[in-house]
Amino acid sequence: MTVLLSIAIILLVSICFILYYRQKKYKEHLLQACYKDLLTGGYNGFYLKEQLHSELNRDKNNAALIAIDINMFQEINEIYGVQTGDKILKSMFYVLQEHSKNNGFVVHMRADEFMLLRFYDTIDQLNQWMELMIQEINQKIETHTKIYVAISSGIYLIEEMNHAVEKMCDCANAARTICKKQQKKYLYFHESMRKISIAEKELEQTIEKAIAKKEFCAWFQPKYNAHTKQLIGAEALIRWNKPDGTLGMPAQFIPVCEKSGKILNIDRYMFEYVCSNLSRWIKKGWKPVPISVNMSRAYLENRDVIQYLVDTIKKYNVPAKYLNLEITESSMIEREEILAQLVEQMRSIGFGVLLDDYGAGYSSLKSLNLMNFDSIKIDKSFTDTIGTTKGNNIVQHTIFLAHSLGMKAIAEGVETELQYQFLCNCNCDYIQGYYLSKPMPIKDFECMLKEEG
Ligand code: C2E
Ligand code: MG
Ligand code: MG
Repeated sequence: MTVLLSIAIILLVSICFILYYRQKKYKEHLLQACYKDLLTGGYNGFYLKEQLHSELNRDKNNAALIAIDINMFQEINEIYGVQTGDKILKSMFYVLQEHSKNNGFVVHMRADEFMLLRFYDTIDQLNQWMELMIQEINQKIETHTKIYVAISSGIYLIEEMNHAVEKMCDCANAARTICKKQQKKYLYFHESMRKISIAEKELEQTIEKAIAKKEFCAWFQPKYNAHTKQLIGAEALIRWNKPDGTLGMPAQFIPVCEKSGKILNIDRYMFEYVCSNLSRWIKKGWKPVPISVNMSRAYLENRDVIQYLVDTIKKYNVPAKYLNLEITESSMIEREEILAQLVEQMRSIGFGVLLDDYGAGYSSLKSLNLMNFDSIKIDKSFTDTIGTTKGNNIVQHTIFLAHSLGMKAIAEGVETELQYQFLCNCNCDYIQGYYLSKPMPIKDFECMLKEEG
């Protein structure tokens, strides 16, 4: 009896042990799956979040958290395609991993962003290691893809081990962002950098409130027929009527909105603002000219983009022909076919669609090849070169190209008589710029419309 009981207990203990062991293995397996980054096969950001503190406690050496990415990766993806983009990321990951072996780890956060934990003895050693690693990343990527990439990295020297992982990442990322602006390869985090990122966060919150309080409005910049100087349209340009009485310009807040995703709300707000004013003008019996609204990349990536446009013009009872949508080259999302479809849909509804800032980006010709726009807008940086042999040639041929593709050409940023005359001689269709008119508040633009109507 005792023997039987002992066997039963041993069996029970063994079963419990096996169950416990399997559960543990299963848990480990699940965790590994959660930590796995599908693109590189390495770890993802979740691993960093969960494991950073235990890694820091294990090693008593100095530690640095390094945020690293590729400059203009989005553009590289657009020009060379997503497959090449993926190849670049895998090559980069390979080098980062080789350099992290037995001395920290690397995780793939998102897109082209990686984060490294690195243990080091001296700053000199860390600098040498950074130089070498960046050099090897460049070499590896160049050998694999024939593309030279520029790297930006932000280094946060971990002094307080118990800080939240997010806070440490914020510091490394803040240094990376400033490193990119200063066109350096790497930069160490300093307290003053956090002030910049805190200021950006505060600006984000202020913008959110400003949208709710309807502090944004549009100024209108007329567009003219180049030959007759007749008003043919206007571009709505966002302005911020700040509570302190000053006027906020897009350059001061659009980049922050783009980074935070708030640009979607801004674009909708502006589209609705323009529709409501067009509706008011039509009701007054004026004959408004078509108004252009700028559309950001985030807006075009939103799935409901067409539905929103249609619902809004219906809500305000404004015919689509009164609206032009300006899409910049940098909006050319990875899935170009989708954007080509969007452009087709927009045009079939009756909106005019313009390719804005033509020539300022990298994929101008590709965009023209894939998509049918009504007009292309020659970027101000090209208008500025009118008067030089090369500049004249480029502008003249761009206008010719637009016409041969059945599109109109509009030049932006026209400031001088010389530029204006040259554009007329080249048969440019429309002109926008300080030479004929600066952007103006809505009241002034309404006086113009009344005179015209
Ligand atoms: P953009 O769409 O290329 O707009 C043209 C910019 O050039 C405007 O600057 C305009 O004021 C300026 N400009 C026009 N003619 C001249 C000229 O002859 N000389 C000079 N020096 N500048 C001229 P602004 O209003 O500061 O807008 C800058 C950019 O901000 C716009 O470039 C556009 O990309 C963005 N933006 C403006 N409003 C909106 C908006 O409602 N939504 C979105 N997503 N972006 C907007
Ligand atoms: Mg524009
Ligand atoms: Mg433009």
